[in-house]
Amino acid sequence: MARINENYLKLQSRYLFSEIGKRTKNFIAANPKAPVIRLGIGDTTLPLPPSIIDAFHKGIEEMKSKDSYKGYGPEQGYDFLRVAIAKNDFGSRGAKIDPEEIFISDGSKCDTGNILDIFGKNKIAISDPAYPVYVDTNVMIGNTGPANEFGEYEGIVYLRSTEQSEFKPPLPDRHVDLIYLCSPNNPTGSVLNREDLKKWVEYARKEKSIILFDAAYEAFIEDPQLPHSIFEIEGADECAIEFRSFSKTAGFTGVRCAFTVIPKKLKGYDEKGNSHDIHSLWNRRHTTKFNGVSYPVQVAAAAVYTEEGKKQTREVINYYKENAKIIMEGLKAANFKFFGGINAPYIWLKTPNNMSSWDFFDLLLQKLNIVGTPGSGFGRAGEGYFRLTAFGDREKTKEAMERIKAYKW
Ligand SMILES: *Cc1c(COP(=O)(O)O)cnc(C)c1O
Repeated sequence: MARINENYLKLQSRYLFSEIGKRTKNFIAANPKAPVIRLGIGDTTLPLPPSIIDAFHKGIEEMKSKDSYKGYGPEQGYDFLRVAIAKNDFGSRGAKIDPEEIFISDGSKCDTGNILDIFGKNKIAISDPAYPVYVDTNVMIGNTGPANEFGEYEGIVYLRSTEQSEFKPPLPDRHVDLIYLCSPNNPTGSVLNREDLKKWVEYARKEKSIILFDAAYEAFIEDPQLPHSIFEIEGADECAIEFRSFSKTAGFTGVRCAFTVIPKKLKGYDEKGNSHDIHSLWNRRHTTKFNGVSYPVQVAAAAVYTEEGKKQTREVINYYKENAKIIMEGLKAANFKFFGGINAPYIWLKTPNNMSSWDFFDLLLQKLNIVGTPGSGFGRAGEGYFRLTAFGDREKTKEAMERIKAYKW
């Protein structure tokens, strides 16, 4: 009798994006002519810039001849890419990260989930609302009890981010071992500043805990005062792991390339209290269960750091940022209360007339034919809020905002 991992049975069946898909599909089936605009799922829509496509092609061409053919590469990624990342993403911001501390992978979604392989039983804190992957992967691996009536799992410390705290998660009121932070935040668009991060680093060092810092949206930061990496904060190399991805920064959602930074100074503890290098554990895990990202993809990712690549990816980001502006101006004109959108591609709005997130979803879909994302799908603290994304098409984004402005709220 093959036994299953029963933790999977604890998972709430209604995965946010499948529920959105289902409701949208049903609506379109009943109203095939409705001009539906999707401002829901967080996926990029613009093509890869030309200099990145060129590099991608060159990488493929090298596979054509025996002299330049590449078989298995280093599991941790090619040096040319690790060196470019260390220099451009960290060194240039005063964060000392060695290329060997960077592990190239095929996605941050996998990395944020897989990282739990190297940790034992821990007290887990997760900001709420949050990217659903953090909670679900902890459920799968057995770090939680069952879900309660609100869909929250026993054993997780939820860090409620509220309007009063500008949607920044508060420090835990007790000891925790692992802390998930996402900045710029999906879904709220809030960004932790230097002072905020210093507080987290201080807490983590005092408690010997580790911060799992997801910076998938760092490229959207425009305020020069805001940190792009937690490693810009002194002491973070003793208490943090950072997840980065080319998905949102360079349109790699369909190409797949990301990386995780694990400083060599970072320690975890066994039951007897002896310390162990987290870097070696992850290196062991990564090299055992992963055989590296494809060579042409890594060549394409390295092209993001060339002068041309930087300029062209910046243009793409600016296109999305202009969409965010259009959304914010529309919401302002319609008298909505909203957050984010400036240093992040997400606009987090308060639903009008105290509607629930899902009621607002249905109204927006049925009356205005706009698909967005209900805030409650990201956690209990998201109830009463709603996420719109700047990743859509310019004309459709404008059209959606015209509909919102014209409606009598
Ligand atoms: C999109 C996203 C990622 C990136 O995931 P990939 O697997 O690298 O595409 C990571 N974290 C958050 C919060 C995201 O929204």
